[in-house]
Amino acid sequence: MPSMTTSKVSRWDQHGREHVVRVAKSGMQRQLTCDTCGWRRGTQFLPWLKAEEHLTEAHQATVDPTA
Ligand SMILES: [Zn+2]
Repeated sequence: MPSMTTSKVSRWDQHGREHVVRVAKSGMQRQLTCDTCGWRRGTQFLPWLKAEEHLTEAHQATVDPTA
């Protein structure tokens, strides 16, 4: 898991399109922003997991390009 204050989670869908959720530190929270659809969410815990959930549910993007 990355330790930078700003990071991102990227996944590809079955059409090879990349979807990116950015994770920015905001006080006690992490602010998630999806580049594809503009979805935003603040979360205190497990921001990367929340990002992955969004990518899977909203964009069917489950392929980790770094895996
Ligand atoms: Zn999205």
